[in-house]
Amino acid sequence: MQHGTCATFTCGNGICEIDHVVDYAQTHETTLPKLRGLCGSCHDRKKRGHHYRVNDDGTITWTRPDGSSDERTPRRPAEQIAATER
Ligand SMILES: [Zn+2]
Repeated sequence: MQHGTCATFTCGNGICEIDHVVDYAQTHETTLPKLRGLCGSCHDRKKRGHHYRVNDDGTITWTRPDGSSDERTPRRPAEQIAATER
């Protein structure tokens, strides 16, 4: 987890936490397609009511507590992030 950048759009910080895109309590799954590497700041933001989903084309839609959202392309595909951080 020391390499790579945060999976959220414009962040660019280093990954320091692995996040379940959909809360583990809902899915009970910990598989690579359902995980993303986030920096501490973005992970904290998610804990404050922001959330995101990974679209079929690999883009991420990040939604704020007020309901507004952005759709962005991660800097690297999730498969590439996973392969370099084992
Ligand atoms: Zn980040």
